[in-house]
Amino acid sequence: MKTAWRSSKIVTPTGIVDGVLLVDDDKIVAVTDGDEVPSGYTLRDVGLAAILPGFIDAHVHINEPGRTEWEGFETATKAAAKAGITMVADMPLNSMPVTTTLDAWEQKVAAAKDKLYVNVALYAGAVPGNVNQLSTLVDSGAVAAKCFMVHSGIDEFPNTSIADIRQALLELRAHQVPLLAHAELEIGQSYDKRNPRSYAAWVTSRPEQMEIAAIEALFDLCRETGAWVHIVHLATGAALPLIAAAKSQGLRITVETAPHYLYFAAEDIPDGATQFKCAPPIRSSQTREALWRGLIDGTIDMIASDHSPAPPAVKQLESGDFTNAWGGIGGLQFGPSATWTQMSQRGLGLPHLAHWWSTAPAKLIGMSALRGSLLVGKQADFVVFDPDATMTITEADIEHRHKVSPYVGEILRGKALTTVVGGQVVYDDENGCSQPKGRIVLNPKSGLAQFNALSPESQAIALTRCCGASNWVRQVQAALPIASRNQLFALADRVWADCSTDDYKEAFTHHPKIGDVSKLREKFAATASWSAGEQSGVNQANEEVLQALAQGNADYEAKFGYIFIVCATGKTASEMLALLQARLPNDPAKEIYIAAEEQRKITHIRLEKLLQGG
Ligand SMILES: [Zn+2]
Repeated sequence: MKTAWRSSKIVTPTGIVDGVLLVDDDKIVAVTDGDEVPSGYTLRDVGLAAILPGFIDAHVHINEPGRTEWEGFETATKAAAKAGITMVADMPLNSMPVTTTLDAWEQKVAAAKDKLYVNVALYAGAVPGNVNQLSTLVDSGAVAAKCFMVHSGIDEFPNTSIADIRQALLELRAHQVPLLAHAELEIGQSYDKRNPRSYAAWVTSRPEQMEIAAIEALFDLCRETGAWVHIVHLATGAALPLIAAAKSQGLRITVETAPHYLYFAAEDIPDGATQFKCAPPIRSSQTREALWRGLIDGTIDMIASDHSPAPPAVKQLESGDFTNAWGGIGGLQFGPSATWTQMSQRGLGLPHLAHWWSTAPAKLIGMSALRGSLLVGKQADFVVFDPDATMTITEADIEHRHKVSPYVGEILRGKALTTVVGGQVVYDDENGCSQPKGRIVLNPKSGLAQFNALSPESQAIALTRCCGASNWVRQVQAALPIASRNQLFALADRVWADCSTDDYKEAFTHHPKIGDVSKLREKFAATASWSAGEQSGVNQANEEVLQALAQGNADYEAKFGYIFIVCATGKTASEMLALLQARLPNDPAKEIYIAAEEQRKITHIRLEKLLQGG
């Protein structure tokens, strides 16, 4: 489908264009001045509304699986679509299990299936003792890892020590992905709980010095390891000189702040208003102004919502008890508009909004090659944004699972009219959200993402090396892209189970004959080291066994019409010979399915190698 999006304000990295954004299928193919629309394109004129690169919210707690009653993929991504957000990056907590192992990763990917209205990237969790999982998680598609330096709020995601963080940084450095740190460190602070409804007491209990102490420790580790550290939700202006100095020394540091720190101020937060509770806390208007200065001068790189909702009871809304309320703000749907509201008052323009909410977060999560700006060749992920529209937020507007948000009652400026992901409208102002067309987007450097990104021809070649049945290859390919190893294996099995015996026989012809040494060597050239590794047992066999295998295979082929297929990994030639002799008397109607099962196992081993870049 070809669409020409006409706007007087197309926000590109080189300036605002009054012209046309041309989209072919899922890609941007041109950004041109003027009104001219090439033939074959359907015109969508958005008039005075702006077109910006889709917002990317790099800090969201979706909480599924396990705490889906707190949020969930469907509600979170609907809220995102309504905000003009085309991709969110989901934190490794507070789902259950937390995303600190491959098994938990697979559970999360499976839970997201068919529920996403925008694209979702996933973070891994770095906790004490799981450093050996981090590479696996990044190889599986995690875009970065996240750690806490104080208690995270949930016991199953323990905070890391300095030594843990050092190990994690060394591991992540090799992958060129950042470690995201919740930067607050215990400094012997105390919490005066005599009035549990007091907002001031909550703020005093999490002083700025906690952030500064953590940031200093992180910078030391950054200097020592040369790894990339990203500070999430900075909430103090007092750390800005420190950050600016470290950046000027060339340390690899990025910093995000959150819209609630840029929008609200402690002076205006009433006692008992626990919908404002988060950590670090929302501080004074002085801090708010300092954070704006930090953004404008580039010390702070980006903005992300840190959406971390909880049910009203967990937020202690009735009692207003700050000492027991969940610390986390429901704000995913309002981040860009809250930011723009404040920006308008400060005379800041749309290019800054595009930078802080799209270009910079795309870079953080390694997605810059295809996302984060309106340039030719990028994914057509964008938002039609009316910068002049205002809206008074009511509970009825909220797509989050729970209608608890400090933004209720606020008048926000700037409204997403249409949200487009990969060229498809996922939200528009009149009709709301369409179908769940989003997907999990993996770290582009991961083996699976690289396989997904191959040309159809190369994918077919790679798959044929795993299993030579052309029908199987075609059907697997039709279901790509795939989001996880388990989903690829499940797909491979499902398609294989539906294949015909002719398909099975076609796959078998792609194997070297076990024991036919000369044929075997010939085939090695075609399948490179794969078959050599799998059939190492054959290489070590003595001549007598090889001859018996060759003879047995000839008998087998004469009887069944195809060669003997066995998953040779870990088997000696003698063991294979025993298997061959045991299967030789089989009824042909039964044997084909035994051989097909062996092929299925071989396919798995080869798919595994494929994902590892084999
Ligand atoms: Zn968070």
